[in-house]
Amino acid sequence: MLKNVTKEDVDVLVELQEIEKGANRIRKVLDGVENEISIRKKKRRDAEIELKTLEAQLTEIRGQYKEFENEVKDRDIRLKKSEEYLKNVKTNTEYQTLLREIDDNRKRNSEAESQMIDFLDQIEKKEKEVSESQSRFNEIVETTDREIAEIENNTVSERKELEIITQKRNEVAINVKPRLLDRFNKILQQSAGIAIVPLTNTTCGGCFMNIPPQKFIEIQRGESLNFCPQCHRMVYYKKS
Ligand SMILES: [Zn+2]
Repeated sequence: MLKNVTKEDVDVLVELQEIEKGANRIRKVLDGVENEISIRKKKRRDAEIELKTLEAQLTEIRGQYKEFENEVKDRDIRLKKSEEYLKNVKTNTEYQTLLREIDDNRKRNSEAESQMIDFLDQIEKKEKEVSESQSRFNEIVETTDREIAEIENNTVSERKELEIITQKRNEVAINVKPRLLDRFNKILQQSAGIAIVPLTNTTCGGCFMNIPPQKFIEIQRGESLNFCPQCHRMVYYKKS
């Protein structure tokens, strides 16, 4: 129970509640719209993630290919040097060692080259996947951009209306004592956008519970602001 709340105070709160109901109706519409927009944004994000993942895979394979290519190049240089050196070796042992080394390097190069061919295949496949994914992404961006613009365009009047209602709410709220307004806003948040309800006969207009007789008499007197014992909303007496 809040004491020293006048009939005028209650009237302003009731007016505020009416404004709030209007705002809620529009917010619901806009929430639905927000949801529609976020579905499209998610679709776009998913397509972008897919594209980026494929691009990263392509970079990785290209990197591996490059590594093999460099190894082969290095070994080719060493091979050339060894072949040059082979002409001038003095001993047979030296000759045999060098020949083994050359053979070994040639073998490793040929293995590397066959792996490189394999990588080239993979690169080609991945490039195709990237290009397809890029087209899909572009298409999705184009479609979702258009759809989002359309959705936003269709709600221009709602947004404008909400702006006007918000302004009106602020104008009315100035007339409410701060402690009352605080309480009102808190209940508004906790109780599905309805903070103050009329008491018709002895029934709470918020949760439809019957108010105990003693409490009802108190509320009827109208000298204080009372709360429903069940839903904790502000209740005021309204002659039916
Ligand atoms: Zn109630």
